[in-house]
Amino acid sequence: MLPQGRMNVMWRLARSCSTISSRVAGFPAISQPLNYLAGARVEPSDSSAQFNLQYPATGEVLKTVGCSGSDDVHRAVSKARQAQTGWARMSGFQRGQVLKRAADIVRSRMEELAQLETLDTGKPIWEARFDIQGCADTIEYYGGLASTVTGDFLPLSDGNFSYTIREPLGVVGGIGAWNYPFQMASWKSSPALACGNTFVFKPSQFTPLTAVVLGEIYKEAGLPDGCYNIIQGEAETGQLLCNHPDVDKMSFTGSVPVGSKIMEACAKDIKHVTLELGGKSPLIVFADSHMDNAVGGAMLANFLTQGQVCSNGTRVFVQRSIHDEFLEKLVSRTKKMKIGDPFAEDTTVGATISRQQADKVLHYVQAARHEGAKVECGGEEVTPEPRFAGGQFLSPCVLSGCQDNMQVVRDEVFGSILSLLVFDEEEEVLARANDTEFGLAGGLFTNDLKRAHRVISKLKAGSLYLNNYNIYPVGVPFGGYKKSGIGRENGPEAIEYYTQVKSVYVEMNDVEAPF
Ligand code: NAD
Repeated sequence: MLPQGRMNVMWRLARSCSTISSRVAGFPAISQPLNYLAGARVEPSDSSAQFNLQYPATGEVLKTVGCSGSDDVHRAVSKARQAQTGWARMSGFQRGQVLKRAADIVRSRMEELAQLETLDTGKPIWEARFDIQGCADTIEYYGGLASTVTGDFLPLSDGNFSYTIREPLGVVGGIGAWNYPFQMASWKSSPALACGNTFVFKPSQFTPLTAVVLGEIYKEAGLPDGCYNIIQGEAETGQLLCNHPDVDKMSFTGSVPVGSKIMEACAKDIKHVTLELGGKSPLIVFADSHMDNAVGGAMLANFLTQGQVCSNGTRVFVQRSIHDEFLEKLVSRTKKMKIGDPFAEDTTVGATISRQQADKVLHYVQAARHEGAKVECGGEEVTPEPRFAGGQFLSPCVLSGCQDNMQVVRDEVFGSILSLLVFDEEEEVLARANDTEFGLAGGLFTNDLKRAHRVISKLKAGSLYLNNYNIYPVGVPFGGYKKSGIGRENGPEAIEYYTQVKSVYVEMNDVEAPF
């Protein structure tokens, strides 16, 4: 590993690079091994299976990465197991200090991390910076909570009492999706570590880079070797991790079908699971809303990170009397979004993660057309500059005239397609909004206070937004109802999902046995 000062100089050089090869050359971290075991980068022991890491904006292969096999997974879990006792023996305050130092280092390396995240994901650089900032806040937040993970004293009759101890689960395995790679590594590892667990993470094969840097940051902050480990790979590596008998809990972020497989694998050993899965969330705009805020909210609900956001409010229900004005303003603002170089400061739409994902989005636009929706704007593949001919850029799409039974309205697409639906009455829209197997998020715009809270109480989803959308303040729990998941990330709630409670009964009198 290069010394930190030299790394900083190199990424500053990389920042001014116009070609990807020169930019990549500015990040030695990319050419180094991407497994992270007991505090060091290592190559997998058997790289018979591999995947290519491609820059989504150009399609260039940045490197070929070896998949971790059963030996690698076993070594990572064993290192985590060995490190866990010592880490859990430290006080919560001491663990918290490590996390707080890590948060400071993340902030000091913000630009480098954001650039790596953009290379991995193709998202605009300003969004990547915003994401990394949020991750630093999360790590600091759990650093603060670490010393509050305590038990209760429960007074009983006749001087007897009980007390509870909140203990770590042991070794936590994590598997992440590709849309927020650094966020997934930090949202899972920081509460897990705060509670005294150790961690083995498999990032998505599309975005393997930044989770490894987080390992180096934790080490610099004082995390003992073995507490945080990374294994790279695809589905098979993920399955090996879920099936490893010495993993106590799996925390998974990804699609519903894969979430179901994770749960199945964990059922065998009765492992704890947290599942953060997909969504098809409703955003309801009532006629009394502040129009410009509602239009901005609908865009935030659909177009961040090229529409690849689990909580997106992709079903936008607009009350009939304001529909036409809403549509006009929405289309006008959407057309002004700047599609282009993810590293350009004024780009608002970067590259879609992969060819396969872009084709999936385009398929849904076509299907919507066939089913009678009108494409008001976007939904096309574009090449913002000749140098991006090998990448995949899609123009943000607004569909009007959508019906509840259309494919694009029922399925999670995970791309920039906003489906506009008309409604008349509150009861009607509530029934339609809840008519989905998902329950991740939802939102509404209204200026009627009573209606706002009435509707919120009836929406069946875990994360709701009133007069805004896709805001994730640190400390607010996040997670889904129905098929969108089990458990919560963020906030004090996450502590419950990384600990188990031991109850102790204390007898202060003679034992009265009826035998
Ligand atoms: P995915 O389910 O295809 O893959 C997620 C991860 O699981 C990857 O690391 C992948 O390698 C791994 N994997 C795949 N098959 C596996 C198997 N059989 N066993 C173990 N691991 C396996 O999802 P994706 O395409 O990476 O991400 C998009 C999905 O993630 C969307 O459905 C989106 O809604 C969801 N998501 C949810 C949240 C949330 O917080 N609820 C956040 C982001 C993304």
